[in-house]
Amino acid sequence: MDVGFIGLGAMGSAMARNLIKAGHTVRVWNRSPGPAEELAREGAVAVNRAADAAHGDVLVSMLADDAALRAVLFAGGVLEAASPSLVHVGCSSISVALGRELARAHGERGVSYISAPVFGRPDVAAQAKLNIVAAGAADAIARAQPVLDAMGQKTWVIGAEPYMANLVKIGGNLMIASAIEAMSETAALGAAHDIDPGKMLEIYTSSLFACRAYQSYAPGIAERRFEPAGFKLKLGLKDVRLALEAGDAASVPLPFGSALRDAMLTAIAFGDGEKDWSALAEVARKRAGL
Ligand code: NAP
Repeated sequence: MDVGFIGLGAMGSAMARNLIKAGHTVRVWNRSPGPAEELAREGAVAVNRAADAAHGDVLVSMLADDAALRAVLFAGGVLEAASPSLVHVGCSSISVALGRELARAHGERGVSYISAPVFGRPDVAAQAKLNIVAAGAADAIARAQPVLDAMGQKTWVIGAEPYMANLVKIGGNLMIASAIEAMSETAALGAAHDIDPGKMLEIYTSSLFACRAYQSYAPGIAERRFEPAGFKLKLGLKDVRLALEAGDAASVPLPFGSALRDAMLTAIAFGDGEKDWSALAEVARKRAGL
């Protein structure tokens, strides 16, 4: 297939690379040119304008947040340039409100749009093992399926309205952030009582909490190792805010979300916004005077 790909950050680069490996023709664009040049050496075609990536069968976007998507799709003229036969697959973690707006804006131009946010960090993306949550018109999802298959291990179709997938993604990240905070507080509690946090978390992640969300973050929390960032704390705060916003819109209080927002803001105030979001552990230690 002829696939355009915009947004070649930690996730997008790995995903686009798998599309090249699967034999698709991949036209790539990124705001800063370095990542597109690198993929061009591996067989992609680097284009100068984002709009030039919107003429094929499928366009995948993996930009940072709502503001980035707005800047590229609307102000950057991608939507205007999109051919009617295109399916736009939005993989970024964005707000429910923007998910709804994108569905409307694409519909008005006769272009298909599905939301397909992903679970899995850059290492999982590199192995094409992402769990992809997709929502949108069934025929558009079917047309994009070969592209989704090249990037993920499973596509979970959640509904016919794109925003639904965005909400499922936001909810999942609220749960991961809660798991990180739970381990961070418990590790600080252990350290304050002269117990090795590494051994402590190993017990939990080998028994009661033997699942990926806990296991993948426990060693970094115990060793206080937060770089290189798999998922930047500032992007984690973005997702917690999106959960709070979706909660506000439907009168759903999220007390854990409110506490996480403050803890993440504290981490950013301490200068940890570019570190992995498990740097939340340092906030728990500082609160404990450690
Ligand atoms: P990242 O490494 O920070 O990459 C962000 C991308 O967005 C880069 O291509 C960046 O371009 C681009 N961008 C940012 N602001 C822009 C703007 N105003 N205009 C144009 N382009 C802009 O982030 P990431 O970790 O790949 O995450 C991308 C998305 O995937 C986010 O929505 C994130 O929440 C989601 N996600 C991340 C993970 C993870 O573990 N990392 C997992 C699942 C989902 P430049 O290179 O020019 O800065």
